[in-house]
Amino acid sequence: MATCDIHEYAMSGVQGINPYQPGKPISTLAREIGMDESAIIKLASNENPLGPSAKVTEAVSSVLGEQSRYPDGGAVELRDRLAQHHECNPAQITVGNGSNDVLDLIARTFLGEGRSAVMSEHAFAVYPLSTQAVGASSVVTPAKEWGHDLDAMAGAVRDDTRVVWIANPNNPTGSWVDSDALHSFLLQLPQDVVAVVDEAYIEFVEDDDYPDSSLWLGQFPNLIVTRTFSKAYGLAGYRIGYALSSETIADLLNRVRQPFNVNTLAQAAAMAALDDQDHIQRGVELNRIEMRKMEQGFDQLGLKWIPSAGNFVSVDIGQSAMPVFDAMQREGVIVRPVGNYGMANHLRISIGLPDENSRCLQVLTKILRGQQ
Ligand SMILES: *Cc1c(COP(=O)(O)O)cnc(C)c1O
Repeated sequence: MATCDIHEYAMSGVQGINPYQPGKPISTLAREIGMDESAIIKLASNENPLGPSAKVTEAVSSVLGEQSRYPDGGAVELRDRLAQHHECNPAQITVGNGSNDVLDLIARTFLGEGRSAVMSEHAFAVYPLSTQAVGASSVVTPAKEWGHDLDAMAGAVRDDTRVVWIANPNNPTGSWVDSDALHSFLLQLPQDVVAVVDEAYIEFVEDDDYPDSSLWLGQFPNLIVTRTFSKAYGLAGYRIGYALSSETIADLLNRVRQPFNVNTLAQAAAMAALDDQDHIQRGVELNRIEMRKMEQGFDQLGLKWIPSAGNFVSVDIGQSAMPVFDAMQREGVIVRPVGNYGMANHLRISIGLPDENSRCLQVLTKILRGQQ
């Protein structure tokens, strides 16, 4: 009997996907290098080094008694709370199992075979994944000084384009587009193309020219803004994010959303986290101070870095970054190689606690000096 390669029978978009590479868990590295887990530093996934607000733990404990029940499928209380926060209607909100889930919902709603999505070089890795998983093609425009070139992106929109993915700020470059540039881009964009503005790091941005594009929802019925609780809110492990859009788009997204995609603990955690904006502020201040420290550390090593509006920074090692990444891991410091983003010489480093950042710089210095 002839053997059959089942790979050939998967949808062609899925066959072409370049899988997402998650960072190595602390426990795995600890085993590999024979180091205590507590001595390992992970600055690889842009999480909040302070963890979530103390109110989150309390709120989550208080709903443990409901664990045998399905969650509220409509996330009614959470959406009401978010609607207050954003001064919008709850019907404009779509919740997701992380904002990644929301990106997938958008792709399943607006993309498929014979359609395309426009995105920038070096943009967040999930955009091509979500696009190709549903059979659509990715149109990638060259970056401008590591950031999105919105003129190039507008020019790349084809007749079959239905989605434009914009990360503002972008991961892994930390670049952002300003208010005027984004607003004129949206004005130019055909109304039958959905503009997705992914604001996963908005809480960290301190530039006055940076746009909170959720304020433009009334003006652009084809705009979707995504937000997450994974970064500044410190809830990455719970998996919760959401989209803000017109009610029409939210209604469409909610048709393909799994009814129980956001679990009970995540809903409780998110509401408690929203109520503690002081905690977010502490994280933002820590990030500001420590970002400067990292930049100065790189300067002292003569390394170029990309100015970042997020809670991470990509630094140019001036050579293939993989050997340096490996050497750092052997010293117990996990950062992120970004070769899969077309940035083979860069490492992306999340801003951690002061001691973690200092140790990261020490280890990087030791490795680079050791090579000379
Ligand atoms: C981390 C990140 C997200 C958030 O993903 P979640 O699924 O909400 O954890 C979204 N967009 C970008 C650009 C990110 O870096």
